[in-house]
Amino acid sequence: MRCSVVLVAAGRGSRFGDPRNKVLLRLGGKTVLEHALEPFLSIPEIVEIVVVANAADLEEVAAILTNIAANGKSIKTVAGGPRRLDSVFQGICNTAENELVAIHDAARPLVRRETISRALEAAARSGGAVVAEGAVDTVKRAGDGKFVNLTMPRNEIFLAQTPQVFKRREFAQALERAASGPEDFTDDASVAERAGIAVEIVEGDRENIKITYPGDLERAEEILAVRAGRNPNMKYNETRVGAGYDLHRLAAGRKFILGGVEIGGEFGPLGHSDGDVLLHALADAILGAAGLDDLGTLFPDNDPRYKNASSRALLAECSARARAAGFIVSNADCIVILERPKIAVHRAAIRKSIAEILQIPEHCINVKGKTAEGLGEIGEGRAVEARCSVLLRCVAG
Ligand code: MG
Repeated sequence: MRCSVVLVAAGRGSRFGDPRNKVLLRLGGKTVLEHALEPFLSIPEIVEIVVVANAADLEEVAAILTNIAANGKSIKTVAGGPRRLDSVFQGICNTAENELVAIHDAARPLVRRETISRALEAAARSGGAVVAEGAVDTVKRAGDGKFVNLTMPRNEIFLAQTPQVFKRREFAQALERAASGPEDFTDDASVAERAGIAVEIVEGDRENIKITYPGDLERAEEILAVRAGRNPNMKYNETRVGAGYDLHRLAAGRKFILGGVEIGGEFGPLGHSDGDVLLHALADAILGAAGLDDLGTLFPDNDPRYKNASSRALLAECSARARAAGFIVSNADCIVILERPKIAVHRAAIRKSIAEILQIPEHCINVKGKTAEGLGEIGEGRAVEARCSVLLRCVAG
């Protein structure tokens, strides 16, 4: 049976605490959206994919999709609606009249090809199929939110994931009726159930997570590393410590960039790149812990490509190399030794900046400012120094 896919990318990351759409965040070198789409491209029954995006993200989503090897499938982007239901309806209205339609959350980047194929078979057999995972915990119902009035038999409880697959014609009719009403549905199978369509449970797996909270991206990164079997000599969760150090002279007329943040003042660090002493020390600490070459070897200061280079990009590259080697940063503790300006007022912005570059939560980054009490070249305001310690955790093996 030929199948269309509606990939729903119209969410807003309110629970994620990030204003960007979480499906546009990067995971293992590409976006969450690309990961979610890829397994569908190698399934012969799937002939087209319609990605439903927010109006604000349409251009960015379309640009990402132009770089995908479509494997002969049609891929297009359409704008979603205010409710999930409206977005799915917009998607279905833009699909061709194939026998099946599969709805998948673009925020589920780790769905397996085999799971999708099993859902397609079940929907062809039964009319509808939902990928779901059996409950591990016992489920209590409290109608008033306070006292338990029912304990549900655990073997009857399944937690719905996606994809959810349906015979297209019946489901499109049910969806059209639902979309004209005021009610929202948290998943697509509920619309089918309401219309009397049989929905078969297809066993999902624990790795088919939905990227909802910041820690989920880290978990997804771990799962990808384990699947790729990286760093077979390292044990999963093994830790490595790294130390980094850097010093730059200060000169008049240079911008003072520290931790990727401009901190003002009359002087700034001299350097071939932007002279960000903190990001250099941090990058070296990460590279060192991962057993990789140091910053000066990877990005030589006589190479014209790195003239005035943004150290944010250098650190992101070093972090990507550590991740490719199977490591993620557990935490970093940094000391900046500088006479002036005082960095206390910039600490929060610097932590945020570093957390963004490394794609880890802010509470895993600490930055402390010290002075040299007027002694030596730092005390005289002629130099700035940074020292960093990092802990890496192996997510492969
Ligand atoms: Mg440096």
